Amino acid sequence: MAAGRFPSFGLATPPAPRAIGADEAIALLKGGQAKPASLLAYGNGRSYGDSCQNGAGAVVDMRSLNRIHAFNAETGVLKADAGVLLSDIIAHAAPYGFFPAVVPGTQFVTLGGAIVNDVHGKNHHRRGTFGCHVESFTLLRS
Ligand SMILES: Cc1cc2nc3c(=O)[nH]c(=O)nc-3n(C[C@H](O)[C@H](O)[C@H](O)COP(=O)(O)OP(=O)(O)OC[C@H]3O[C@@H](n4cnc5c(N)ncnc54)[C@H](O)[C@@H]3O)c2cc1C
Repeated sequence: MAAGRFPSFGLATPPAPRAIGADEAIALLKGGQAKPASLLAYGNGRSYGDSCQNGAGAVVDMRSLNRIHAFNAETGVLKADAGVLLSDIIAHAAPYGFFPAVVPGTQFVTLGGAIVNDVHGKNHHRRGTFGCHVESFTLLRS
């Protein structure tokens, strides 16, 4: 994959020299073969700073993990992969009368990126941050 496809929104630093797919990263992590600090998840690059960049190793393109696994049309509780965009969640849930409780100023962020940066919206004083509305998640660490 070309490194140029993995900038940050603010073009803070040069993109990571190397990028790998999520499936490859998961196999490395589960096999204990990933060196510490060698892998960093890349959501959709909407961070202003360098938090989605990894000059010391590779970024992992999370956007292929983009399945919505379950949605409860009664409660609005949704189970999805980390690479799903908020825009896709909105498109899926809105016809049932649901909308995410907290959204940042762009819908083109991934679920994983919204959780990791614990993003806030204009209703922060009432609904808190994104994490206030996350029931659980699974985290793989290098
Ligand atoms: C126009 C615009 C408006 C914005 N408005 C707001 C706002 O109102 N409020 C606000 O809080 N933010 C706002 N932001 C910032 C944006 O919401 C955050 O930077 C968000 O985290 C970007 O998500 P992303 O999926 O693009 O993640 P990236 O920018 O790609 O990554 C962000 C961080 O999450 C990590 N990460 C991503 N996916 C995973 C994963 N699956 N597993 C583990 N780690 C992961 C990355 O390693 C990185 O550290 C705005 C950004 C833009 C461009």
